[in-house]
Amino acid sequence: MAKTILTQGDITTQRVDAIVNAANEGLLGGGGVDGAIHRSAGPSVMQECQAFDGCETGDAVATSAGDLFADHIFHAVGPVWLGGLEGEEAALVRCHTRAIDLALERGCRSIAFPAISCGVYGFPINRAAPLALSVARSAERSALDEIRFVLFSEPDYFAFARGLDSL
Ligand code: ADP
Repeated sequence: MAKTILTQGDITTQRVDAIVNAANEGLLGGGGVDGAIHRSAGPSVMQECQAFDGCETGDAVATSAGDLFADHIFHAVGPVWLGGLEGEEAALVRCHTRAIDLALERGCRSIAFPAISCGVYGFPINRAAPLALSVARSAERSALDEIRFVLFSEPDYFAFARGLDSL
């Protein structure tokens, strides 16, 4: 039975089979966690991303992980927060579910997620955390051993900790 784990830190240093990136529809890299992952992974991952015709919001695509410890990167495109009435919650759930599915298809045992959409995309973290964690909870009976959420800041960590308590 998989465990859902929270940790505060940098996702690029995690020793897991798969790292999830908070990507954008163009898969073009950017700031935030996307930039950090591409910087650490090296240019081969960007080359693989360019072979896709982008990725829709709510979906995810897989590449290798370049220089990262992990074997795979799943580039998941979370929604831009537009006030909550534009299907943002469903899209956030879908992109997490898609990343879990990619992990299972590839035989991964461990996966690390950042707080997708909770940076420049503006999704309120107190609403995002229970949604992300509910996807992890649903996957706990899968072949995964660990589903890790890597929160960059202490407030983000505590938002996820509250979300875990309230599941
Ligand atoms: P989005 O565009 O999906 O909102 P961002 O990269 O702007 O993506 O932010 C998503 C979350 O990732 C934010 O909570 C941000 O603090 C966090 N973050 C930024 N850098 C890192 C990192 N190196 N490791 C883990 N989380 C990070």
